Amino acid sequence: MSITQAPPETEHAHESLDGAVVKADFPILNQPLRAGQKPLVFLDSAASAQKPQVVIDAMSDYYARVNANIHRGVYDLSEAATEAYEDARRKIATFINAQSPRECIMVRNTTEAINLVAQAWGKANLKEGDLIVFTEMEHHSNIVPWHILAAEKNLRQAHVHIDDEGRLDLDEYAEILRQEPKLVAFTHVSNSLGTVNPVKQMIADAHAAGAIAVVDAAQSAPHLPIDVQDLDADFLALSGHKMLGPMGSGALYGKKALLDAMPPYMGGGSMIRKVFLDHTTWADVPAKFEAGTPSVGDTVGLGAAIDYLNALDMRRVWAHEREVVAYALEALQDVPDIRFFGPTDAQARSGVVSFALGDLHPHDISQILNEHNVAVRAGHHCTQPLMKALGVTATTRASFYVYNTREDVDRLVEALHDVRRVFSGLPSSTTAAARADGPCRQEWDAKTFDG
Ligand code: PLP
Repeated sequence: MSITQAPPETEHAHESLDGAVVKADFPILNQPLRAGQKPLVFLDSAASAQKPQVVIDAMSDYYARVNANIHRGVYDLSEAATEAYEDARRKIATFINAQSPRECIMVRNTTEAINLVAQAWGKANLKEGDLIVFTEMEHHSNIVPWHILAAEKNLRQAHVHIDDEGRLDLDEYAEILRQEPKLVAFTHVSNSLGTVNPVKQMIADAHAAGAIAVVDAAQSAPHLPIDVQDLDADFLALSGHKMLGPMGSGALYGKKALLDAMPPYMGGGSMIRKVFLDHTTWADVPAKFEAGTPSVGDTVGLGAAIDYLNALDMRRVWAHEREVVAYALEALQDVPDIRFFGPTDAQARSGVVSFALGDLHPHDISQILNEHNVAVRAGHHCTQPLMKALGVTATTRASFYVYNTREDVDRLVEALHDVRRVFSGLPSSTTAAARADGPCRQEWDAKTFDG
């Protein structure tokens, strides 16, 4: 059966998925192999997930049959494109249980969503000396926008640190809340550790202290059911490309009253009610925050990804990841000198497994894994403050998703044994460990732009 069909609503709804059946829906994971080449084991979904055929088809169909600029045209094609875009917005709203599609602003990614909150809500509601809070385990996209805002408005910052198992220090959080911050921002699930944070309680505590709560759901929305009303989140950000949708699609959820009261983030077409030579009045939400021509085709693709995830059933997606990650944590114990980062309890973490292998540099590890056609990520995962807390510059990260299987884990383990063989006896100075952090943005830029 193709998983694109909705599984019947049965008592089996909480049962795990069959990753091998799901995998069949992803053309990139089923490409013809060169002689002797092993099938791709893709373990980098936390960076960006692969796309099922239904998403590729939805986008191709949109461009083949529907494409036109939206909201402005009074001809059939433009109305159809507008309907396709707004239909995707409705799907996202239902997926996260927003009260209304108006509460969902379509953006390119989580980064843009958080910058929007910082610049629009932050600028209008924070004043010099106000306290803002975020945590040590945040992705840079939930740190840097707050740094920019803090510098612009002269704000104070407080940071929640992690304990030895990579969980947030909730006593420190409670202590910081007593200082009456105006805004707290935290990730639902850590992209580097897999830690699942108790966000519902953290939001309730923030509200009790008089702060608004911004949730980074980049690593949770793809993997577990999200209910913004139940969480009582003020803002919640997600990226379409991490949840089987295309790059360039994403959403910011915001409570309607907050969005209504915020000034726009960017100015331009589509976000206006009236423009005069000397001033402008704003459109209602969500248009107020969607200046310019949006990524319509990408948003349509995200709508198709949501249909696909709904058909799988998010409860089963989560159950599947629990099972694969528990198996991975067990099977990887077999690799000598492996050391895991993050919570030891497999039930308290997402499908992300970060590890070190002796003193081997993660870039060396991932390079050998690549020779086995096993794709993992090596680096700081855009969480430099977290790496500092862990006492490393980088980790190797395997991240699992709907299409991964126990066989994929076995391939990872087998390839890691080979990494051990390759590097046994080599002095560590011959490895990338001698370099600071392997290829970085500056090196890529030099290669790309300066020859
Ligand atoms: N937040 C978390 C927890 C992430 O893992 C990522 C990406 O890895 C982001 C934010 C940023 O996502 P994007 O690059 O799609 O904006």
